[in-house]
Amino acid sequence: MLAYKNVVLLLLACSLIIILLAWAFAFLNIWLVLALILLDIGCLIGGSFYVCSGLYLHAHCKGDTDKKQIAITFDDGPHADITPKVLDILKLHDIKAGFFLIGKNTEKNPEIVKRMLDEGHLIGNHSWSHSNFFGFWCTKKVVASLRKNEDFIEGISGKRTNLFRPPFGVTNPNIARAARLLDYAVTGWSIRSLDTMGKSNEKIIIRVVKRLKPGSVILFHDNHEGIIPILESVIKIAVAEGYTFISPDKLLNIEAYK
Ligand SMILES: [Zn+2]
Repeated sequence: MLAYKNVVLLLLACSLIIILLAWAFAFLNIWLVLALILLDIGCLIGGSFYVCSGLYLHAHCKGDTDKKQIAITFDDGPHADITPKVLDILKLHDIKAGFFLIGKNTEKNPEIVKRMLDEGHLIGNHSWSHSNFFGFWCTKKVVASLRKNEDFIEGISGKRTNLFRPPFGVTNPNIARAARLLDYAVTGWSIRSLDTMGKSNEKIIIRVVKRLKPGSVILFHDNHEGIIPILESVIKIAVAEGYTFISPDKLLNIEAYK
């Protein structure tokens, strides 16, 4: 199957050829040009909202394996009440997961981060503030936000994380440049649970387990009550289907820390 990036490049090339042919054979008009430009811009914007599109950077989104191994990741924590409950469930099932931390939340809950590491989980950078405007920031501002979070995490854990997951999964040339400058392994997912979109727990569970494949990386959020029953059910079903959970860095074959 063609990668998203290749589809977009093909589309851009085709648009250019169509415009040149239309010009050469005198049927070029403004509506044709506008339609092609809008289509191309739509695809470029669409690609920036899909971290694994590969349009602006390479993101690690699924493991290259035929074995029934999968990984769980959580974004937007740590949360004072929810994250400890998530950690309890993971401990009960002896599962090592990945947590992409927001600096402002880490600042409020450093003990939870220490517990994550003590229990063998992986921590990654999810920016300092998770601003809604992250996708509009210049490279310098993105770098400052990531570095502030990385420095803070190092201060409480002694580890410099090597993994970065962009807030909202948004990528663009500025974010790509920042990730390169800080030498991050950008980490995406292959199953987006949509667990913060107001869907019922049952729908979320079905959505996730239907999509399970060898190498899957699941995206959850450890900042809402619903994650507790969702996580318990997904683990139960996945195990019954013969899947085992491994740490995201091992599944994706990347270094967790610098
Ligand atoms: Zn997030």
